[in-house]
Amino acid sequence: MAEIVLTNVSKSYGAVPVIDDVSLAIRSGELVVFLGPSGSGKSTLLRMIAGLETIDSGTLTIGGTRCESLPPGQRGVAMVFQNYALYPHMTVRENLAFGLRNVGMASDEIARRVGEAARILEIGQLLDRRPAQLSGGQRQRVAIGRAIVKEPRAFLFDEPLSNLDAALRVRTRVELAELHQRIRSTMIYVTHDQTEAMTLADRIVVLNDRRIEQIGTPMEVYSRPASRFVAGFVGSPA
Ligand code: ADP
Ligand code: MG
Repeated sequence: MAEIVLTNVSKSYGAVPVIDDVSLAIRSGELVVFLGPSGSGKSTLLRMIAGLETIDSGTLTIGGTRCESLPPGQRGVAMVFQNYALYPHMTVRENLAFGLRNVGMASDEIARRVGEAARILEIGQLLDRRPAQLSGGQRQRVAIGRAIVKEPRAFLFDEPLSNLDAALRVRTRVELAELHQRIRSTMIYVTHDQTEAMTLADRIVVLNDRRIEQIGTPMEVYSRPASRFVAGFVGSPA
């Protein structure tokens, strides 16, 4: 079943078009990577799904609900931000609970969700620490935990590894793949890195110059590129 459906979506910043007539259906449980060069429109597309940018024309449906006019908090998706910003003065437990307390959730439900996120991410032993007492990798898990506690229909990642050193990048990529295997949630992952796309994606959406060039499995995109651009960017030599 399609979880996130974009139909004929377009957007301009002022007079400059940045997304041009994009249609796309993301299946429930699928990990889809938006792959394309810098400036191709990946972040804009993701932020429109999240509700952080408006859609000029076209429709967006998430879990069967039309969402173009819904605020971010009512779309059932959770964005995991690039900088993984945690509140330094709060413990891990408080960092995880903060967004839920803010919307007035009952404290026993908050405790249940924090416990569940800690179990999924194996950070139960870190709950009383502060961010300064965590390693980089542990901080990232907590940041992902802040999305997990929202129990979203879909997780949205925008270049989450781009600020990390090479070793941590590889390790975090593997952890994300394992997380997806474990919880089988719908995920959209934005990157300009072909290796990340090839190793993580169920399907890759190749973006270039405001439009989708090709949608396919890593194997399809690699071995049967639909255009010269895709061939040059990810595929085998044409
Ligand atoms: P990507 O994430 O693939 O690098 P973006 O979605 O960030 O691409 O940007 C797509 C295009 O839109 C780029 O040309 C960028 O300069 C432009 N753009 C992005 N955000 C804004 C903005 N807030 N105002 C004006 N132009 C923007
Ligand atoms: Mg971007």
